[in-house]
Amino acid sequence: MLDCAIVGGGPAGLTAGLYATRGGLKNVVLFEMGLPGGQITQSSEIENYPGFFDHTKTGMDFMNTWQEQCFHFGLKHEMVKVERVVKTEDHFTLMLEGGKSVEAKTVIVCTGSTPKRAGFKGEEEFFGRGVSTCATCDGFFYKDKPVTVLGGGDTALEEAIYLSNICSNVYLVHRRDRFRAAPSTVERAESKPNIHFVLDSVVEEVTGDASGVTQVHVRNLKTDEKRTLDTPGIFVFVGHNVNNEVLKDETGNFICDVNEWGQVKVDLRMRTNVEGLYAAGDLRIDAPKQVVCAAGDGATAALEVIAYIQEEA
Ligand code: FAD
Ligand code: NAP
Repeated sequence: MLDCAIVGGGPAGLTAGLYATRGGLKNVVLFEMGLPGGQITQSSEIENYPGFFDHTKTGMDFMNTWQEQCFHFGLKHEMVKVERVVKTEDHFTLMLEGGKSVEAKTVIVCTGSTPKRAGFKGEEEFFGRGVSTCATCDGFFYKDKPVTVLGGGDTALEEAIYLSNICSNVYLVHRRDRFRAAPSTVERAESKPNIHFVLDSVVEEVTGDASGVTQVHVRNLKTDEKRTLDTPGIFVFVGHNVNNEVLKDETGNFICDVNEWGQVKVDLRMRTNVEGLYAAGDLRIDAPKQVVCAAGDGATAALEVIAYIQEEA
Protein backbone atom coordinates (compact mmCIF):
# COMPACT_ATOMS: atom_id res chain seq x y z
CA MET A 1 0.00 0.00 0.00
CA LEU A 2 1.26 3.50 -0.88
CA ASP A 3 1.97 5.96 1.91
CA CYS A 4 0.62 8.69 -0.33
CA ALA A 5 -0.96 8.88 -3.77
CA ILE A 6 -0.86 12.25 -5.49
CA VAL A 7 -3.40 12.80 -8.26
CA GLY A 8 -2.33 15.43 -10.81
CA GLY A 9 1.16 16.61 -11.75
CA GLY A 10 0.83 20.39 -11.97
CA PRO A 11 2.63 22.78 -9.62
CA ALA A 12 0.59 21.55 -6.63
CA GLY A 13 1.12 17.84 -7.26
CA LEU A 14 4.81 18.12 -8.11
CA THR A 15 5.52 20.19 -5.02
CA ALA A 16 3.52 17.80 -2.85
CA GLY A 17 5.68 14.97 -4.23
CA LEU A 18 8.89 16.86 -3.56
CA TYR A 19 7.96 17.61 0.06
CA ALA A 20 6.52 14.15 0.78
CA THR A 21 9.60 12.28 -0.45
CA ARG A 22 12.17 14.74 0.85
CA GLY A 23 10.29 14.58 4.17
CA GLY A 24 10.96 10.87 4.42
CA LEU A 25 7.97 9.07 2.88
CA LYS A 26 9.28 6.15 0.85
CA ASN A 27 6.30 5.06 -1.10
CA VAL A 28 4.81 8.02 -2.95
CA VAL A 29 3.40 7.91 -6.48
CA LEU A 30 2.22 10.84 -8.58
CA PHE A 31 -0.54 9.85 -11.00
CA GLU A 32 -0.63 12.26 -13.94
CA MET A 33 -2.57 11.53 -17.09
CA GLY A 34 -0.21 13.55 -19.30
CA LEU A 35 3.26 14.91 -18.92
CA PRO A 36 3.82 16.59 -15.55
CA GLY A 37 3.67 20.38 -15.58
CA GLY A 38 -0.01 21.30 -15.46
CA GLN A 39 -1.86 24.15 -17.13
CA ILE A 40 0.96 26.69 -16.86
CA THR A 41 2.75 24.77 -19.63
CA GLN A 42 0.17 26.33 -21.99
CA SER A 43 1.29 29.83 -21.08
CA SER A 44 3.62 31.87 -23.22
CA GLU A 45 5.20 33.53 -20.19
CA ILE A 46 5.36 33.68 -16.43
CA GLU A 47 6.66 36.75 -14.68
CA ASN A 48 5.21 36.50 -11.20
CA TYR A 49 6.95 33.45 -9.78
CA PRO A 50 9.63 34.75 -7.41
CA GLY A 51 13.14 33.86 -8.51
CA PHE A 52 12.17 33.33 -12.14
CA PHE A 53 12.05 36.47 -14.26
CA ASP A 54 12.79 35.82 -17.88
CA HIS A 55 10.40 37.09 -20.56
CA THR A 56 11.98 34.85 -23.17
CA LYS A 57 10.92 31.66 -21.34
CA THR A 58 7.52 29.98 -21.71
CA GLY A 59 5.46 28.19 -19.05
CA MET A 60 6.78 24.92 -20.52
CA ASP A 61 10.41 26.08 -20.07
CA PHE A 62 9.55 27.09 -16.52
CA MET A 63 8.01 23.75 -15.55
CA ASN A 64 10.85 21.80 -17.16
CA THR A 65 13.08 23.19 -14.43
CA TRP A 66 10.83 21.57 -11.79
CA GLN A 67 11.07 17.99 -13.04
CA GLU A 68 14.56 17.01 -11.95
CA GLN A 69 14.18 18.49 -8.47
CA CYS A 70 10.73 17.10 -7.79
CA PHE A 71 11.67 13.55 -8.81
CA HIS A 72 15.14 13.63 -7.21
CA PHE A 73 14.07 12.37 -3.77
CA GLY A 74 12.25 9.25 -4.90
CA LEU A 75 8.84 10.39 -6.14
CA LYS A 76 7.54 7.93 -8.72
CA HIS A 77 5.39 8.94 -11.69
CA GLU A 78 2.70 6.86 -13.39
CA MET A 79 1.24 8.31 -16.56
CA VAL A 80 -2.38 7.27 -16.14
CA LYS A 81 -5.73 8.89 -15.51
CA VAL A 82 -7.29 8.32 -12.11
CA GLU A 83 -11.00 7.71 -12.56
CA ARG A 84 -12.12 7.71 -8.95
CA VAL A 85 -10.86 7.85 -5.41
CA VAL A 86 -12.78 5.45 -3.16
CA LYS A 87 -12.65 5.66 0.62
CA THR A 88 -12.69 2.29 2.37
CA GLU A 89 -12.45 1.73 6.11
CA ASP A 90 -8.87 2.77 6.82
CA HIS A 91 -7.42 3.55 3.40
CA PHE A 92 -8.22 4.70 -0.15
CA THR A 93 -8.48 2.81 -3.42
CA LEU A 94 -7.64 4.67 -6.63
CA MET A 95 -9.48 3.30 -9.64
CA LEU A 96 -7.24 3.83 -12.67
CA GLU A 97 -8.18 4.07 -16.32
CA GLY A 98 -7.78 0.63 -17.88
CA GLY A 99 -9.22 -1.24 -14.89
CA LYS A 100 -6.28 -1.38 -12.48
CA SER A 101 -6.50 -0.10 -8.91
CA VAL A 102 -4.01 1.03 -6.29
CA GLU A 103 -4.34 1.34 -2.53
CA ALA A 104 -3.00 4.24 -0.51
CA LYS A 105 -3.05 5.39 3.11
CA THR A 106 -3.46 9.03 2.08
CA VAL A 107 -4.39 10.90 -1.10
CA ILE A 108 -3.60 14.46 -2.19
CA VAL A 109 -5.86 15.52 -5.06
CA CYS A 110 -4.26 18.19 -7.27
CA THR A 111 -6.24 17.86 -10.48
CA GLY A 112 -6.55 21.60 -11.16
CA SER A 113 -8.89 22.88 -13.81
CA THR A 114 -9.42 22.85 -17.60
CA PRO A 115 -10.35 25.61 -20.08
CA LYS A 116 -14.08 26.29 -20.49
CA ARG A 117 -15.85 26.51 -23.80
CA ALA A 118 -17.59 29.82 -24.53
CA GLY A 119 -20.64 28.18 -26.12
CA PHE A 120 -20.84 29.97 -29.49
CA LYS A 121 -22.08 28.23 -32.64
CA GLY A 122 -19.31 26.36 -34.46
CA GLU A 123 -17.01 26.21 -31.43
CA GLU A 124 -16.98 22.41 -31.23
CA GLU A 125 -17.14 21.85 -34.99
CA PHE A 126 -14.05 23.98 -35.57
CA PHE A 127 -12.17 23.07 -32.39
CA GLY A 128 -8.61 22.31 -33.47
CA ARG A 129 -9.31 23.80 -36.90
CA GLY A 130 -9.24 27.47 -36.01
CA VAL A 131 -10.70 27.39 -32.50
CA SER A 132 -7.99 27.03 -29.86
CA THR A 133 -7.45 27.46 -26.13
CA CYS A 134 -3.65 27.57 -26.32
CA ALA A 135 -1.73 30.46 -27.89
CA THR A 136 1.67 28.92 -27.17
CA CYS A 137 0.65 25.75 -28.95
CA ASP A 138 -1.20 27.24 -31.91
CA GLY A 139 -0.19 30.90 -32.25
CA PHE A 140 2.54 30.20 -34.74
CA PHE A 141 -0.01 28.74 -37.17
CA TYR A 142 -1.34 32.29 -37.56
CA LYS A 143 1.99 34.03 -38.17
CA ASP A 144 1.34 37.37 -39.94
CA LYS A 145 -2.40 36.64 -40.03
CA PRO A 146 -5.19 38.28 -38.00
CA VAL A 147 -6.75 36.41 -35.08
CA THR A 148 -9.57 36.88 -32.59
CA VAL A 149 -9.13 36.45 -28.84
CA LEU A 150 -12.22 35.98 -26.63
CA GLY A 151 -12.30 36.88 -22.92
CA GLY A 152 -11.40 39.63 -20.49
CA GLY A 153 -9.33 37.88 -17.79
CA ASP A 154 -5.56 37.65 -17.27
CA THR A 155 -5.25 34.73 -19.66
CA ALA A 156 -7.04 36.49 -22.54
CA LEU A 157 -5.06 39.70 -22.16
CA GLU A 158 -1.67 38.01 -21.72
CA GLU A 159 -2.23 35.68 -24.63
CA ALA A 160 -3.47 38.57 -26.79
CA ILE A 161 -0.15 40.32 -26.10
CA TYR A 162 1.75 37.14 -26.96
CA LEU A 163 -0.23 36.73 -30.19
CA SER A 164 0.30 40.40 -31.12
CA ASN A 165 4.00 39.59 -31.53
CA ILE A 166 3.25 36.84 -34.04
CA CYS A 167 0.02 37.79 -35.77
CA SER A 168 -0.73 40.81 -37.94
CA ASN A 169 -3.72 41.97 -35.87
CA VAL A 170 -5.46 40.72 -32.75
CA TYR A 171 -9.16 41.48 -32.17
CA LEU A 172 -9.88 41.16 -28.47
CA VAL A 173 -13.59 40.49 -27.99
CA HIS A 174 -14.95 40.93 -24.47
CA ARG A 175 -18.55 41.00 -23.30
CA ARG A 176 -18.05 44.00 -21.02
CA ASP A 177 -16.02 47.23 -21.16
CA ARG A 178 -14.15 46.45 -17.90
CA PHE A 179 -11.56 43.72 -17.53
CA ARG A 180 -10.88 41.12 -14.86
CA ALA A 181 -7.21 41.11 -15.85
CA ALA A 182 -4.62 42.97 -13.76
CA PRO A 183 -4.52 46.70 -14.66
CA SER A 184 -0.82 46.48 -15.62
CA THR A 185 -1.62 43.71 -18.11
CA VAL A 186 -4.51 45.72 -19.57
CA GLU A 187 -2.14 48.69 -20.00
CA ARG A 188 0.39 46.52 -21.81
CA ALA A 189 -2.31 45.26 -24.15
CA GLU A 190 -3.57 48.79 -24.78
CA SER A 191 -0.06 49.89 -25.70
CA LYS A 192 0.10 47.34 -28.54
CA PRO A 193 -0.92 49.07 -31.80
CA ASN A 194 -2.12 45.84 -33.41
CA ILE A 195 -4.48 44.81 -30.57
CA HIS A 196 -7.97 46.10 -31.31
CA PHE A 197 -10.57 46.03 -28.55
CA VAL A 198 -14.06 44.88 -29.49
CA LEU A 199 -15.90 45.54 -26.24
CA ASP A 200 -19.43 44.93 -24.95
CA SER A 201 -19.53 42.21 -27.57
CA VAL A 202 -20.05 38.47 -27.84
CA VAL A 203 -19.02 35.94 -30.44
CA GLU A 204 -22.20 34.45 -31.85
CA GLU A 205 -20.76 32.08 -34.41
CA VAL A 206 -17.65 31.03 -36.28
CA THR A 207 -17.96 29.92 -39.88
CA GLY A 208 -15.48 28.43 -42.28
CA ASP A 209 -14.76 25.75 -44.82
CA ALA A 210 -12.88 22.46 -45.01
CA SER A 211 -9.60 24.18 -44.14
CA GLY A 212 -11.02 25.66 -40.94
CA VAL A 213 -12.38 28.93 -39.57
CA THR A 214 -12.61 31.87 -41.95
CA GLN A 215 -14.92 34.28 -40.14
CA VAL A 216 -15.91 35.22 -36.59
CA HIS A 217 -19.35 36.78 -36.21
CA VAL A 218 -19.66 39.24 -33.35
CA ARG A 219 -22.60 41.16 -31.87
CA ASN A 220 -22.44 44.31 -29.76
CA LEU A 221 -24.65 43.76 -26.70
CA LYS A 222 -25.42 47.47 -26.26
CA THR A 223 -26.16 48.49 -29.86
CA ASP A 224 -27.05 45.07 -31.31
CA GLU A 225 -24.72 45.94 -34.19
CA LYS A 226 -23.26 42.87 -35.93
CA ARG A 227 -19.73 42.68 -37.23
CA THR A 228 -17.72 40.03 -39.04
CA LEU A 229 -14.04 39.58 -38.25
CA ASP A 230 -12.19 37.91 -41.12
CA THR A 231 -9.80 35.91 -38.99
CA PRO A 232 -8.79 32.27 -39.55
CA GLY A 233 -8.24 31.70 -35.83
CA ILE A 234 -10.06 32.36 -32.57
CA PHE A 235 -8.47 31.81 -29.17
CA VAL A 236 -10.98 31.20 -26.39
CA PHE A 237 -9.90 32.18 -22.86
CA VAL A 238 -13.11 32.27 -20.82
CA GLY A 239 -12.06 30.57 -17.59
CA HIS A 240 -11.74 27.02 -16.36
CA ASN A 241 -13.77 24.09 -15.02
CA VAL A 242 -12.79 22.42 -11.74
CA ASN A 243 -11.47 18.89 -12.34
CA ASN A 244 -13.33 17.24 -9.49
CA GLU A 245 -14.62 14.08 -11.21
CA VAL A 246 -12.18 11.85 -9.30
CA LEU A 247 -13.95 12.82 -6.10
CA LYS A 248 -17.38 11.57 -7.20
CA ASP A 249 -18.71 8.15 -6.23
CA GLU A 250 -20.59 5.76 -8.52
CA THR A 251 -23.83 7.65 -7.98
CA GLY A 252 -22.25 11.00 -8.85
CA ASN A 253 -22.10 12.30 -5.27
CA PHE A 254 -18.92 13.86 -3.95
CA ILE A 255 -17.04 11.83 -1.36
CA CYS A 256 -15.96 15.02 0.43
CA ASP A 257 -17.46 18.47 0.92
CA VAL A 258 -17.39 20.87 -2.05
CA ASN A 259 -18.90 24.33 -2.52
CA GLU A 260 -21.57 25.40 -5.06
CA TRP A 261 -18.97 25.58 -7.88
CA GLY A 262 -17.57 22.13 -7.11
CA GLN A 263 -14.41 23.49 -5.49
CA VAL A 264 -13.15 21.22 -2.72
CA LYS A 265 -13.55 22.55 0.80
CA VAL A 266 -10.28 22.40 2.73
CA ASP A 267 -8.93 23.98 5.90
CA LEU A 268 -5.68 25.93 6.08
CA ARG A 269 -3.81 22.60 6.24
CA MET A 270 -5.39 21.43 2.97
CA ARG A 271 -7.42 18.77 4.83
CA THR A 272 -10.84 17.87 3.45
CA ASN A 273 -13.55 16.65 5.79
CA VAL A 274 -12.46 13.06 5.03
CA GLU A 275 -9.55 11.83 7.14
CA GLY A 276 -6.44 11.17 5.05
CA LEU A 277 -7.82 13.03 2.00
CA TYR A 278 -6.27 16.38 1.01
CA ALA A 279 -6.80 18.80 -1.88
CA ALA A 280 -4.30 21.35 -3.16
CA GLY A 281 -4.09 23.95 -5.92
CA ASP A 282 -6.70 25.31 -8.29
CA LEU A 283 -9.44 22.82 -7.40
CA ARG A 284 -9.75 23.97 -3.79
CA ILE A 285 -12.03 26.71 -2.45
CA ASP A 286 -10.69 30.26 -2.61
CA ALA A 287 -7.73 29.22 -4.77
CA PRO A 288 -5.92 32.31 -6.02
CA LYS A 289 -5.10 30.25 -9.14
CA GLN A 290 -1.44 31.08 -9.17
CA VAL A 291 1.52 28.76 -9.56
CA VAL A 292 3.15 30.03 -6.38
CA CYS A 293 -0.05 29.39 -4.38
CA ALA A 294 -0.62 25.93 -5.88
CA ALA A 295 2.97 25.00 -5.01
CA GLY A 296 2.46 26.31 -1.47
CA ASP A 297 -0.71 24.24 -1.12
CA GLY A 298 1.14 21.13 -2.31
CA ALA A 299 3.87 21.65 0.28
CA THR A 300 1.31 22.24 3.06
CA ALA A 301 -0.64 19.10 2.15
CA ALA A 302 2.50 16.94 2.02
CA LEU A 303 3.67 18.15 5.44
CA GLU A 304 0.23 17.27 6.81
CA VAL A 305 0.42 13.81 5.24
CA ILE A 306 3.80 13.18 6.86
CA ALA A 307 2.43 14.20 10.28
CA TYR A 308 -0.70 12.07 9.76
CA ILE A 309 1.26 8.95 8.78
CA GLN A 310 3.62 9.38 11.74
CA GLU A 311 0.64 9.66 14.11
CA GLU A 312 -0.96 6.54 12.63
CA ALA A 313 2.26 4.47 12.91
P1 FAD B 1 -2.93 22.27 -12.85
O1 FAD B 1 -1.78 23.07 -13.26
O2 FAD B 1 -4.23 22.44 -13.55
O3 FAD B 1 -2.50 20.73 -12.94
C1 FAD B 1 -3.42 19.68 -12.75
C2 FAD B 1 -2.87 18.44 -13.39
O4 FAD B 1 -3.71 17.33 -13.03
C3 FAD B 1 -2.84 18.49 -14.92
O5 FAD B 1 -1.52 18.24 -15.37
C4 FAD B 1 -3.82 17.40 -15.35
O6 FAD B 1 -3.39 16.71 -16.52
C5 FAD B 1 -3.82 16.46 -14.14
N1 FAD B 1 -5.07 15.71 -13.98
C6 FAD B 1 -6.34 16.21 -13.96
N2 FAD B 1 -7.22 15.22 -13.75
C7 FAD B 1 -6.50 14.07 -13.62
C8 FAD B 1 -6.87 12.72 -13.39
N3 FAD B 1 -8.15 12.35 -13.25
N4 FAD B 1 -5.88 11.79 -13.32
C9 FAD B 1 -4.57 12.15 -13.48
N5 FAD B 1 -4.18 13.43 -13.71
C10 FAD B 1 -5.13 14.37 -13.76
N6 FAD B 1 -0.33 31.44 -12.75
C11 FAD B 1 0.68 32.25 -12.33
O7 FAD B 1 1.04 32.22 -11.15
N7 FAD B 1 1.32 33.07 -13.20
C12 FAD B 1 1.03 33.10 -14.51
O8 FAD B 1 1.64 33.86 -15.27
C13 FAD B 1 0.00 32.26 -14.97
N8 FAD B 1 -0.30 32.23 -16.28
C14 FAD B 1 -1.24 31.36 -16.73
C15 FAD B 1 -1.49 31.28 -18.11
C16 FAD B 1 -2.40 30.37 -18.61
C17 FAD B 1 -2.63 30.29 -20.11
C18 FAD B 1 -3.10 29.53 -17.72
C19 FAD B 1 -4.09 28.52 -18.27
C20 FAD B 1 -2.89 29.60 -16.35
C21 FAD B 1 -1.95 30.52 -15.84
N9 FAD B 1 -1.69 30.63 -14.48
C22 FAD B 1 -0.68 31.43 -14.04
C23 FAD B 1 -2.42 29.81 -13.50
C24 FAD B 1 -1.60 28.53 -13.10
O9 FAD B 1 -1.22 27.82 -14.26
C25 FAD B 1 -2.42 27.62 -12.19
O10 FAD B 1 -2.84 28.35 -11.07
C26 FAD B 1 -1.63 26.40 -11.72
O11 FAD B 1 -1.11 25.66 -12.80
C27 FAD B 1 -2.50 25.47 -10.89
O12 FAD B 1 -1.74 24.38 -10.53
P2 FAD B 1 -2.43 23.00 -10.07
O13 FAD B 1 -1.30 22.08 -9.77
O14 FAD B 1 -3.44 23.25 -9.04
O15 FAD B 1 -3.27 22.46 -11.32
P1 NAP C 1 -11.18 34.38 -15.61
O1 NAP C 1 -10.41 35.30 -14.74
O2 NAP C 1 -12.30 33.61 -15.01
O3 NAP C 1 -11.75 35.27 -16.82
C1 NAP C 1 -12.63 34.71 -17.76
C2 NAP C 1 -13.06 35.81 -18.73
O4 NAP C 1 -13.88 35.25 -19.75
C3 NAP C 1 -13.87 36.90 -18.05
O5 NAP C 1 -13.48 38.15 -18.54
C4 NAP C 1 -15.31 36.57 -18.45
O6 NAP C 1 -16.09 37.71 -18.62
C5 NAP C 1 -15.13 35.91 -19.79
N1 NAP C 1 -16.16 34.90 -20.09
C6 NAP C 1 -16.56 33.88 -19.29
N2 NAP C 1 -17.47 33.11 -19.93
C7 NAP C 1 -17.66 33.67 -21.15
C8 NAP C 1 -18.46 33.31 -22.26
N3 NAP C 1 -19.26 32.23 -22.26
N4 NAP C 1 -18.42 34.10 -23.35
C9 NAP C 1 -17.60 35.19 -23.38
N5 NAP C 1 -16.80 35.56 -22.36
C10 NAP C 1 -16.83 34.80 -21.25
O7 NAP C 1 -10.24 33.29 -16.35
P2 NAP C 1 -8.69 33.34 -16.77
O8 NAP C 1 -8.36 34.60 -17.46
O9 NAP C 1 -8.42 32.05 -17.47
O10 NAP C 1 -7.91 33.30 -15.38
C11 NAP C 1 -8.13 32.19 -14.50
C12 NAP C 1 -7.35 32.44 -13.23
O11 NAP C 1 -5.94 32.31 -13.50
C13 NAP C 1 -7.59 33.86 -12.69
O12 NAP C 1 -7.69 33.80 -11.29
C14 NAP C 1 -6.37 34.61 -13.14
O13 NAP C 1 -6.05 35.70 -12.28
C15 NAP C 1 -5.27 33.51 -13.12
N6 NAP C 1 -4.22 33.87 -14.10
C16 NAP C 1 -3.25 34.67 -13.64
C17 NAP C 1 -2.27 35.13 -14.50
C18 NAP C 1 -1.23 36.03 -13.94
O14 NAP C 1 -1.24 36.29 -12.76
N7 NAP C 1 -0.29 36.55 -14.73
C19 NAP C 1 -2.31 34.76 -15.84
C20 NAP C 1 -3.36 33.95 -16.30
C21 NAP C 1 -4.32 33.52 -15.41
P3 NAP C 1 -16.56 38.59 -17.36
O15 NAP C 1 -15.34 39.37 -16.95
O16 NAP C 1 -17.63 39.44 -17.93
O17 NAP C 1 -17.03 37.63 -16.33
